Parts: sequence; structure tokens; C-alpha cells
Amino acid sequence: MTQDWHTPGHASFASSHAGKKPFETTQLAYGTQVLWPDHCVQGSEDAALLKDLKLPTAQLIIRKGFHKDVDSYSTFEEADRKTSTGLGPYLKARGVDTVFLTGLATDFCVLWSAVDARKLGFTTYVIEDATRAIDLNGSLAAAWKQMTEAGVKRIQSGDIQVA
Ligand SMILES: [Zn+2]
Repeated sequence: MTQDWHTPGHASFASSHAGKKPFETTQLAYGTQVLWPDHCVQGSEDAALLKDLKLPTAQLIIRKGFHKDVDSYSTFEEADRKTSTGLGPYLKARGVDTVFLTGLATDFCVLWSAVDARKLGFTTYVIEDATRAIDLNGSLAAAWKQMTEAGVKRIQSGDIQVA
């Protein structure tokens, strides 16, 4: 599982940049950053996993975006494209070769995670109806194009049979 786990005043928050509004962009050390409403501050209710989420077999929670000046859409690598979260080596050490992605948001965190999963050599599925998009200026269509080109497989929850 993953959790956005931001510091107060995180660089990805519009409120941290004078005169900026949510969904505008700014330049950070690693490139263009979309600015978001304040969200998922460490330890807050907003950052908590949904209490109705039942995943008793989950063994690891990746908390991401906890470096104040670096966002992390991907669960594999932070937005500076240098800092690993450790998830890729963790999965490989445990013999995992296939990744199924769900959650928020299709065109940001799911997109970046799916493309990184392919870069790391995982067979990668996005379960479309278990994700929701932001769809900012056509970002959803662009995300599917990018994921398809990266070899990500697009499936629906009904395509999965639970043994
Ligand atoms: Zn975030």
C-alpha cells in the first residue's frame, strides 16, 4: 500500500508558494511541479488509509512525498527521479514480477508508478475501474497514451479472478 505522507508546508502545496493557486505549476529544483491543495500531512486524518479498506494481507506501506522539497507521485522513485523509495528492490527480493496498480490518481501517482514499474521490468497492470483521475487539461488521455506506450496493461476489476 502507499500513503502520501507530506510535511506541513510541503513544496507540492500551492499554499507554500506566494500568489499560487492549486492546479497551477511552479518550477522546483527537479522541474515543473503541479501545485495541489494541502493534502495528506503526516499523521493527519487526511493522510490515513480509509478505515473501510480491508487489506489484511498487505505487508508493506510505502509513505511517499515526505521530503519537504520533493514530491513523489511514483511509489518507486521520488519526483527528483533520483531517490528510490526502495520498493523496486523490495519486490524483487521477494520474487515479485507482476504489479497491479489501483488508487489515486490515475493520471498522476498511478501513471508515474506504472511507468516506473515497467522501467524496473515488472509486468504491470492498471485496474482502471479501481482508480480515479484528476484529468487536468487532458492529463487522463495523455496518461493512458504514455502507459500504453510503456507496455502497461489496462484492465478492469472484473478481469481478475481471485483464487
Ligand atoms: Zn501528494
